[in-house]
Amino acid sequence: MGLLDGGSPLSWAETKKNADLIRETGIKQFLSLYERFQGLTDDCLKWGDEIEFTVVHFDHDKKTAQVQLTDPALLERLQQAENADPGNSPTAWRPEYGSFMLEATPGKPFGGATGDFNEIEPNMKLRHKELNEMLAHNTRCMNITCFPRLGCPSFSNPSFTPKPDSSVSRSAFFPDEAINPHPRFSTLTRNIRTRRGSKIAIHVPIFKDVNTPSPFLEDMSQHDEETQAGQPDHIYMDAMGFGMGMSCLQVTFQACSLAEGRLLYDQLTAICPIVLALSASTPIYRGYLSDRDCRWAVIEQSVDDRTREERGLDPLENDKYRIPKSRYSPVSCYLASEKYNDQEIVQNQEVYDTLRTAGIDHLLATHIAHLFIRDPLTLFSEQIDQSTTTESNHFENIQSTNWQSMRFKPPPASSHAKIGWRVEFRPADLQLTPFENAALVMFVVILTRTVLSLNLNFYIPISKMEENMRRAQERNAVLDQKFYFRKNVYTADGQTAAMAADSATPSDDDYEEMSIDTIVNGKDGVFPGLLPLMDSYLRDIGMDVASRCTVSRSFELIRKRATGELKTVAKWMRDFVAAHPHYKQDSVINERVNYDLLMACDRISSGTEHCHELEGDP
Ligand code: ADP
Ligand code: MG
Ligand code: MG
Repeated sequence: MGLLDGGSPLSWAETKKNADLIRETGIKQFLSLYERFQGLTDDCLKWGDEIEFTVVHFDHDKKTAQVQLTDPALLERLQQAENADPGNSPTAWRPEYGSFMLEATPGKPFGGATGDFNEIEPNMKLRHKELNEMLAHNTRCMNITCFPRLGCPSFSNPSFTPKPDSSVSRSAFFPDEAINPHPRFSTLTRNIRTRRGSKIAIHVPIFKDVNTPSPFLEDMSQHDEETQAGQPDHIYMDAMGFGMGMSCLQVTFQACSLAEGRLLYDQLTAICPIVLALSASTPIYRGYLSDRDCRWAVIEQSVDDRTREERGLDPLENDKYRIPKSRYSPVSCYLASEKYNDQEIVQNQEVYDTLRTAGIDHLLATHIAHLFIRDPLTLFSEQIDQSTTTESNHFENIQSTNWQSMRFKPPPASSHAKIGWRVEFRPADLQLTPFENAALVMFVVILTRTVLSLNLNFYIPISKMEENMRRAQERNAVLDQKFYFRKNVYTADGQTAAMAADSATPSDDDYEEMSIDTIVNGKDGVFPGLLPLMDSYLRDIGMDVASRCTVSRSFELIRKRATGELKTVAKWMRDFVAAHPHYKQDSVINERVNYDLLMACDRISSGTEHCHELEGDP
């Protein structure tokens, strides 16, 4: 989840007092990074993924499953190899928001060699194995985006009673003990809630099955007033943990220059909704089947720290901006061409002016000034005083709590190893198996190579990309929804997409609504298809047989997901629940259904069972 500070966390009031200082120093730090690294070129392609694990405890007698709250010592043990020989361990482990979660990445990034595609799935399997081997009997790790009964009574082992009067989240469902004990995480939770001025309120439409009450409205009468704010026909959740307690799949790329990074950021921005729909794996929240297939909107709401004024509910008196979106949201502006930025971009004018005076171009200044409308959410007293040249923590403080669909990462101030400008692709839900996760990663990595090599142009108005993000989360979106996509993705010889966009007059004729099948697989006379474009790129570069085979298997998975021949994880879960004898067609995921679903997830996730509906032929 980004930067892990240490030390004594300040209260929200103290943090707020220092907010201007943090922003001012952060901008100086960014300028220093920019000055030092703007000219970096010839950085080679490097890429790496991040996946998160949920640790689950099974009681096979009672037939129940709970998230297992783990001890920080587990992470220390997992990190032993990395700490003993930095840079040479095959895996790297990091803490995550839930104390039942862990993040794992490859020990070092993969490179530009096509042979590296053969490493990714085995590396993911290894991460799986390393963690499973350290877990107690009846405890397993798995790559699920959301534990289905997260927030239900006794959802964790050990179990704790939520304390809505005194806990950092004030949640009626999610006890503090389920939050990672590192002070960063509880401080984030408390400060987001305090800044917002009320508890987090997450509403997800319920899936209406034949026996689901209509309207569906939970009895919250035993709870406090805020908790009674549930909406009819919606599942209600009231804590950051419901969002940040979920897992996802992210991929980071190093670009060969600042300009290439900006271009990739823009082209991948348009791809985010497509991959979100293909990756859908989150149909269940707090023990209920929802009408959504992806985590995105839940996590957006779970960290929405905007005040009532910022949300437009009260007139602006104490705050500076009306802000249309949560800090967790789709990106608001493109970085390499302005032509398709058709949405209002709320920005910090002071920051913008400072950056422009220092020589930063309009678009990059706009991007940073947009990130800097936010307050820092955590601050540790030991870290207030910072160098503006050798450190970048205050910049990172704001940057890493802008949880957008893409992230543009400057080289770190302190790194000795040469690290270039990077772009992080962040929309995807997590898949059950290493094969599926690796396939999505390869799809995105090879797409970046194809975009750069063929100078493909995916620009559509940013408002249409946002609409696509919304559609991508609908139940069965991958087959049932259409998505705005650019019709002509080719550019003239020697032109990049940004150059093409800059010299064009955007029009509604640039794009049309297409099915994911058309976008991914192509359709004669309509669209060439991302996979066929990628195939032609791969033919051009030539590839050894083993890598070609690995990539073909991955492409086959993506192709069949797009046609519906293979199910998304969300669809598979829905079908599993619907067919379960203990499911009463009332949208409720009871203990027994939860247990059997997670047992199946574990078998599939760990490879002891091959799931044809998800993975295709073995
Ligand atoms: P985050 O800040 O998003 O938590 P991480 O540090 O966890 O990012 O790393 C994300 C991924 O980036 C990892 O898979 C890592 O291997 C990869 N990575 C590390 N260095 C580079 C680099 N120079 N270029 C591209 N990817 C890199
Ligand atoms: Mg990480
Ligand atoms: Mg990340």
